[in-house]
Amino acid sequence: MSKSQKLFNDSKKVIPSGVNSPVRYFEPYPFFTKKSNGSYIWDEDNKKYIDFCNGYGALLLGHRRKEVLDAVLKQLTQGTLFCTPTHSEIELSKLIIGNFPSIEKVRLVNTGGEATMTAIRLARGFTKKKKIIKFEGCYHGAHDSVLVKAGSGSAHNGISVSDGGLDEVAKNSLVVPYNNSEELEKVITKNKDVAGVIIEPVLANMGLILPEKNFLSQVRKITKDNDVPLIFDEVVTGFRVSPGGAQQHFGIKPDITTLAKALGNGFVVAAVGGKKEIMNLLSPGGKVYQASTYAGNPVSVSAAISSIKTINKIKNKLYSKLEQYNSTLTRAIGDMACDLKIPHQINSTSSMFQIFFTDKPVTDYVSSKNADANKFKKMFSTLLKKGVFIAPSQFEVVFLSDAHTKSDIKYTINAYDIALKSVKN
Ligand SMILES: *Cc1c(COP(=O)(O)O)cnc(C)c1O
Repeated sequence: MSKSQKLFNDSKKVIPSGVNSPVRYFEPYPFFTKKSNGSYIWDEDNKKYIDFCNGYGALLLGHRRKEVLDAVLKQLTQGTLFCTPTHSEIELSKLIIGNFPSIEKVRLVNTGGEATMTAIRLARGFTKKKKIIKFEGCYHGAHDSVLVKAGSGSAHNGISVSDGGLDEVAKNSLVVPYNNSEELEKVITKNKDVAGVIIEPVLANMGLILPEKNFLSQVRKITKDNDVPLIFDEVVTGFRVSPGGAQQHFGIKPDITTLAKALGNGFVVAAVGGKKEIMNLLSPGGKVYQASTYAGNPVSVSAAISSIKTINKIKNKLYSKLEQYNSTLTRAIGDMACDLKIPHQINSTSSMFQIFFTDKPVTDYVSSKNADANKFKKMFSTLLKKGVFIAPSQFEVVFLSDAHTKSDIKYTINAYDIALKSVKN
């Protein structure tokens, strides 16, 4: 028995399902990780994997990035939690505002879910309305108002509304298909009680789904015409699609933005920011309550400051390199799948991609769900055997990082070749 298998048996006794977040489980048992560096992680049996899960996109700069670790190590000598304001919080806020011109003021929180929870409360407080419109398959964290027809682990496990979640809350979340602005317009004009629209500007929790041409600008226009605040959940896309996120890439200004994952490159930090008149509603100055003991803690803040500074310093090389590696990888995978006559779609942008085993384009929740997830599972298992770790679900995304090397990409193409052949058989 492998060490991971033994640890998993042990883990199940003390941790529900043996994991601390649902997507981490896969059959027959997940490997247990011992350490990581750059583009690699090692399991407890000392097997090395090229990591394309990358903390679900958080590790844009790679594992144990030197600049980030140096900043954190320096902060550790000064203290880890003060629960008083610090000058570094101002520095981080200015950096975020510098990269995201739609953000005039920003509050630091800990997780992406906390950021979207606060964004939605702000939208409700601002408009004094109740209902939220979300898009089918978008994932915004594990709280009640967004855990309705959500992507990621809840799609993977077939959960539309969670047990224990209140119907009273779910009924205030209206769901519209992704890439369907006509439906958004219908729902928004029919309901006079819409407090906000929340969207992943690139859908990275249903596999990867790209916004069709003009979709996001339509969403912006419809929300503006109806005086409804638009929330861009850039927890994945922030800093990954461009230094200023998807909103910079697509040239669209949302009213509220949420950031997490790549913001801290492996440390626990998130942010919610937006227009002054909305952000000023937060307590204690305003009446929208939000609070957290660990918010703006100096360790996470030091990691985020150095992450953004590093990204901004190397951006001219970083994004073109990631795009080049991504296109090399996806083109090779596409060619191999064609040669093997495996019906497939590959959606890709910047430093993310996903393959779907279907002959129809994947543009929304339904078309993603219609792809053959069993084939994906088989491909995942073969990749894992070959030492390539991607997120263990069709509804997640393959993430590249700055730490990946040319030889990693070459090795990975070879592993996909074997994995696709295993799907064929
Ligand atoms: C991961 C994710 C979240 C939730 O972030 P957590 O830090 O896991 O709470 C929210 N929105 C999107 C788009 C995400 O991908």
